[in-house]
Amino acid sequence: MALPPGLTQSQFDDALAEFAEVVGAEWVFRQDEHLESYRDPFSPLRNTPAEALASAAVGPDSVEQVQQVLRIANDYGIPLWVISTGKNFGYGGPAGVVPGAVTLDMQRMNRIIEVNESQAYAVVEPGVSYFDLYRHIQERGLKLWIDNPEPGWGSVVGNTLERGTGYTPYGDHVETQCGLEVVLPNGELLRTGMGAVPNSETWHEYKWGFGPYVEGLFSQSSLGVVTRMGVWLMDEPPAYRAGQMTVARHEEIVELIDILKPLWRQRILTNYPNMRRVDFAGPSGWFNRLAFYGDRQVVERHWELVQDAYASLPGAELETTLYEAPYNPAEWDLNTKLLAGVPYMNAMYGIGHNVYFALVVPFRGAAIWDVIQTLDGIAQRYGRRFYGTPVHVHSPRGLLTTVSIRVDKNDPELNAQTIEMGREMVAESARRGWGVYRVAPAFSDIAAAAYGYNDNALMRFNEALKDLIDPNGILQPGKNGIWPANMREDRG
Ligand SMILES: Cc1cc2nc3c(=O)[nH]c(=O)nc-3n(C[C@H](O)[C@H](O)[C@H](O)COP(=O)(O)OP(=O)(O)OC[C@H]3O[C@@H](n4cnc5c(N)ncnc54)[C@H](O)[C@@H]3O)c2cc1C
Repeated sequence: MALPPGLTQSQFDDALAEFAEVVGAEWVFRQDEHLESYRDPFSPLRNTPAEALASAAVGPDSVEQVQQVLRIANDYGIPLWVISTGKNFGYGGPAGVVPGAVTLDMQRMNRIIEVNESQAYAVVEPGVSYFDLYRHIQERGLKLWIDNPEPGWGSVVGNTLERGTGYTPYGDHVETQCGLEVVLPNGELLRTGMGAVPNSETWHEYKWGFGPYVEGLFSQSSLGVVTRMGVWLMDEPPAYRAGQMTVARHEEIVELIDILKPLWRQRILTNYPNMRRVDFAGPSGWFNRLAFYGDRQVVERHWELVQDAYASLPGAELETTLYEAPYNPAEWDLNTKLLAGVPYMNAMYGIGHNVYFALVVPFRGAAIWDVIQTLDGIAQRYGRRFYGTPVHVHSPRGLLTTVSIRVDKNDPELNAQTIEMGREMVAESARRGWGVYRVAPAFSDIAAAAYGYNDNALMRFNEALKDLIDPNGILQPGKNGIWPANMREDRG
């Protein structure tokens, strides 16, 4: 069994006994068979000394218990890695960065605190999955739609804190997050935005609060444990048209994106489009997900405008179907479900294990083509190929492209090459001006190094915050390349 860095077995036993007093002995896990579920099956570091094996896991059931767990971790200097549901696959799964950390598993806190139909928001604890929230709304017959990532396996809180993405008009999850409750590393409880006003009536209705916008400091961050989050929901539209378009040739991704840009900026298309290769195995054509929501006449007019725009691309084939309330999602295919925020599990997840990093690229077809050519050039030197993986619209001016690189837990040579090639790709992307949006732990230091403007001013700011808010460096050390002072020197 791994131990937290710098702790003796007897100190660790004492700490676990204190954790058990707080959360109950049955919610402290230290046996190998339990800890196996906190390993990342997608990690290229698996079965190497750098694999971040947890030394134990602790499952609190309340804010007070989280506060006490943090105080004990401070007393002993134990690093904690926080998960909500731990399904961050491709980007680290349930595993952290530092071997021997204790996993702070928030799944027991899985209450849906409120769903407000007239104000169209929900308030959830970290253990609430997209399936949970969807079912809750359906069982009550509320006229609200959620937005979920492609797999419904994860949590609203974990995905949103990672700045996750979905597919409906509410597909930018940070944009639709409103109001957090956070336990700081020293155990203090903080409410963001309007939540800092005692008896606030608008905690989950108005994002910006007063003074600096603090809420953003807790996403992709190691400055606090989020125990509650408000999330805006979409009103069920009276009409919904969903489908897809395809282009036959690999290079047509360029025109596909360039035609899409004005349609999306002008809000003619309002779902968050997602473009994928039709055939994962090679340099195939692409499909893009399309959907329209709202009044039937508006939906139909917008659909006409999209068809007109793509008429200039002869190979483009567009196909959508109109649905009107009351809806029956049980009859829908997976694409139609996804574009309406109906979570599902997909057989596609059996395609094998991959480690991810995702780049931010300008909303221009030529820019995506440049990324594909650049990364394919690197891949070919390793005897592999890169034909481009999902391209996701994440802002009116910026695209995300996820680069997934194959991992095999039984093939250490392949995994070592994956790490080397991935790091080279991240470094070359940085040189070209493409920063990383989200990354697996194997690439987090090199991804952070790319944000080095003015002698790493951003990193120095992040480190100053980390040292101030978490002086013992117990919370998620190494998350997004930010190391606490007591571990910084080892990183060089
Ligand atoms: C095939 C496939 C498809 C995918 N599709 C998508 C997609 O469409 N969109 C998308 O966004 N992702 C996608 N993912 C990535 C991932 O599966 C999801 O983002 C998933 O929702 C994240 O897992 P989670 O919600 O359980 O988060 P967790 O694993 O619980 O948390 C993620 C991270 O957030 C931090 N964190 C979590 N909870 C807290 C807390 N309470 N306080 C402080 N910090 C916390 C931790 O650093 C943690 O490591 C995909 C992955 C795969 C393999």
